[in-house]
Amino acid sequence: MSDDGKLVADVIARHGHEPSRLLQVLVELQEALGWLPPGVLTQVAGGLGLSRAHVEGVAGFYSFLHARPVGRYRVLFSDNVTDRMLGAPALMEALCGKLWVERGKVSEDGLVSVDTTSCTGMCDQGPALLVNGRPLTRLNHARVNQIAELIRRQEPLAAWPAELFHVDDNIRRRDALLGSSQRPGEALKAAVMRGREGWLEEMRAANLRGRGGAGFTTAVKWMACRDAPGAGKVVVCNADEGEPGTFKDRVLLTSFADLVFEGMTLAAWATGAQRGFLYLRGEYRYLLEPLRAVLARRRNAGLLGRGILGETGFDFDIDIHLGAGAYVCGEETALLESLEGRRGTPRIRPPFPVTHGYKGRPTVVNNVETLAKTTLIAINGGAAFAATGTAQSTGTKLLSISGDCAYPGIYEYPFGVTIERVLEDCGASDVQAVQVGGASGVTLAGYEFHRRIAFEDVPTAGAFMVFDSSRDMFAVARNFVHFFAHESCGFCTPCRVGTSLLQGYMDKLASGHGAMMDLADIEWIDRLLKNASHCGLGSSAPNPVLDTLLKFRPAYERRLQHLDFAPAFDLDAALATARRMTGRDDPGAHLDTTQEATP
Ligand code: SF4
Repeated sequence: MSDDGKLVADVIARHGHEPSRLLQVLVELQEALGWLPPGVLTQVAGGLGLSRAHVEGVAGFYSFLHARPVGRYRVLFSDNVTDRMLGAPALMEALCGKLWVERGKVSEDGLVSVDTTSCTGMCDQGPALLVNGRPLTRLNHARVNQIAELIRRQEPLAAWPAELFHVDDNIRRRDALLGSSQRPGEALKAAVMRGREGWLEEMRAANLRGRGGAGFTTAVKWMACRDAPGAGKVVVCNADEGEPGTFKDRVLLTSFADLVFEGMTLAAWATGAQRGFLYLRGEYRYLLEPLRAVLARRRNAGLLGRGILGETGFDFDIDIHLGAGAYVCGEETALLESLEGRRGTPRIRPPFPVTHGYKGRPTVVNNVETLAKTTLIAINGGAAFAATGTAQSTGTKLLSISGDCAYPGIYEYPFGVTIERVLEDCGASDVQAVQVGGASGVTLAGYEFHRRIAFEDVPTAGAFMVFDSSRDMFAVARNFVHFFAHESCGFCTPCRVGTSLLQGYMDKLASGHGAMMDLADIEWIDRLLKNASHCGLGSSAPNPVLDTLLKFRPAYERRLQHLDFAPAFDLDAALATARRMTGRDDPGAHLDTTQEATP
């Protein structure tokens, strides 16, 4: 057996020859081999009893998996709008120049490849990049020079200076959650003392709503799962924090992992689940080992495993599943598909995951912050939790603040805080707009800064990006449109084609060929995406364009050169090669609408 064959056999055996572990098998093989050669995909298919087409389809879906060779050092610059504002494009160009490599290509000696990726979740300390999956933040030209030199010397990543990989938490404002001093197991003991029904009563009283953005009532979700027929219930923590501008879950997983795992165990106590998964986004791969260490510590302390806290029948344990660069997997049914080893294509609903989730079993899917918040309810009770925030949005909310402000980072506020208060606290001035909720959220103009962060006014999963008056809001919207076109999973036509068309129109405007008719077409595509897309990615993709067209229309109109229509490219110039090849340059070889055709 070849070395690769032995490696494949070992990895598959470690995953129990379980087809649903396909994505994890591919991730591990790529980490060992650098890429996924065709022969390896064939061996994986054989070893897991899957078709070659299925394995290839999964390998081709996730942007961090490569069925073609990439550089031994794979550099990916974060392409979020805030990284761009901090100079990421110029830094990438500088690195490419120093390493003699073209963006998107592999250097001739196979040493390095440089490209962009969607937001890496480091917007509070950008510009950022990933090198072989590890984040480097606060890039500047000195750091880029240092990175180029380390790559040229072929220094293994383990020997790179540790400070290059340092990631700050940047917690700027603490409230109930970030200020909590609870000990591991404290919340769990309190919930077990109340009994399963008593614990759910507290959750009902708290009226905690999901912090992932949709705001569904957590207790209702848990009760639906508990009451659903079927054994083997499952709790899933959605840590696929992919919304551009969001990074609060990164901080919770880094410094509050006990609260997250404790929240998952509290969900298991309420629902009777025995199995849990934490779905960790590929960009946070560097947190995998620290998180596994926390799990091991909790097992040793009797907070996971069989008979938790000595309670007969309270058996629950957690696996960590690594994503591989697919924003759509943040949608809960796409995440479940990914957990089962398939492409992250959103499912048709109903049925909902609470009755038919992971492998058809009743499953609760909750956001990282939601789960962490349940520990506060277990310790202090539902009424105390509901005493902060607003009637419809109880408790506090973590905001990930980035962009044009003096103090980017994590802020925890009671729900109901105004946009202007947040701007004041983060040291923002001369603010033109705030993007709340990331690319799929809402763009707020100055006259709306009295509005409140709350489900009943401005809901958000946590992203809060600030743009001062020097920023071009058309360019901001265009960056988001590119993001959605890149991240569309391609399953349904309105989104697959619509996001791509929208990108084409925005590029046309940016190139100076825009006309009034294009704005009308953009609005028509926006409506199509909103009404006909299969999942939230497609229906929210036009949000930034709709908002900026409404509130910052001059940013679009100053790009219009024609009132009716202009082609997206210069056809006459495009025919220059043909003219050269045929040796013609007479008037008849040019497009000239003023000239009549000769009979
Ligand atoms: Fe996929 Fe977009 Fe359709 Fe969602 S809306 S299923 S992301 S193609």
